[in-house]
Amino acid sequence: MSNSTDNHTELLFWINQNLLEFEAIIQEIKDKGIILNKTSFYPESGGQLSDTGHLVLEKDKKSKLKVKFVEKLNGRVIHYISGKIPSNYKEGLKVIGKIDQERRSNLMRAHTSQHVLSAVIEDNFRIKTVKAVIDEKIITVYLERKITEIELSRALILANNHLLAGMKVDSMFFKKNEIPENIKRSLRGELDKVEHAKVRIISIETLDNSLCGGTHCQNTQEIGILFLDDFKEDIISYTFGDTALERMTSLSLGVIGASKLLASKPGEVVNRIPKVINDLKELKEINSQLNKILLKQLMINVKENPLRIEGIKVFKEDFHFAEKKFVLQELGKLDENQLAIFVVNGPIIVVVSSIKQLAANEVVKIFCEKTSNKGGGSLTVAQASTNNEAEDLKIILEIIKEKMK
Ligand SMILES: [Zn+2]
Repeated sequence: MSNSTDNHTELLFWINQNLLEFEAIIQEIKDKGIILNKTSFYPESGGQLSDTGHLVLEKDKKSKLKVKFVEKLNGRVIHYISGKIPSNYKEGLKVIGKIDQERRSNLMRAHTSQHVLSAVIEDNFRIKTVKAVIDEKIITVYLERKITEIELSRALILANNHLLAGMKVDSMFFKKNEIPENIKRSLRGELDKVEHAKVRIISIETLDNSLCGGTHCQNTQEIGILFLDDFKEDIISYTFGDTALERMTSLSLGVIGASKLLASKPGEVVNRIPKVINDLKELKEINSQLNKILLKQLMINVKENPLRIEGIKVFKEDFHFAEKKFVLQELGKLDENQLAIFVVNGPIIVVVSSIKQLAANEVVKIFCEKTSNKGGGSLTVAQASTNNEAEDLKIILEIIKEKMK
């Protein structure tokens, strides 16, 4: 049974999904890829990543080339390798291809798990899968519409039960117009879009019949369990097997850790969090009110006891707890010939000047040159970053004294 026509690459994995080593003839050498007359390498398609592995010339065991990516273009499979193709690789020569077993096994299990989950979701909630992205460790399923948390939870339990029950996975081949009615009725996939005269149907006992050209494991027990990784409306990401177990364990340890911090039981963490968030919001509001009171009080002191440099009033204070806009509301409108320098939340140093000969941005520029901090601003208001508030306030004062001389 061959699915090749003209110079199309014969796809060996169609018939034998467990064939990890094969012989083939080089049909064409491309710039960075090799086309063979047949291959067991799965080319990236249908959301499933491609196989990797290597090729070696039958007559030269030292000629091993790493296959890093495989794709199918116009029915021909191109095996891309790293770097230039050596000159001893010539059309007509026999090669041996070997597939990376671990990656292939992971992709087969991942892909089969997606058949199970998509079948369960469609059968129970009438939601079709429109796309799936199948990676070695994580699978993302795109549904035609939103699924609720309750539905998803139910689907994962059902899918896990099917996996653990050990259902057989088979491939069946039919001519497109000769698919038995009972299979056709439950068939997933779009038959109209199949270009070949022959179709492959992957069946999982009574659960699923899908049109599919991908690679699959032989029994659902090989997959292990499925564990939800992320979920938003119509997009579900999940892990399987050992990765799922690792993810479950790390999440439960996280929840146990969080429960200790919250002084509650692990099962109560989810219900406790909204209360903690609300408490935090209230505390922030109280803090903001207290800051405003503190700011007003400090502002009175600053305004009543200004520094005097060369006869002008300079208001200097550390308001690191306050937002810049609140301080500027108070100190932004200076009388003529006055200067304010203060630290605000950030922390940043702000210079406000109403003195014509002393531009705020000029003071900040000199400060930045001296300290290699970043800053800038206008003639009247300028600001700079600070790592050492007390020291930087002193430096700014020195600059101002120098300029005022
Ligand atoms: Zn499939």
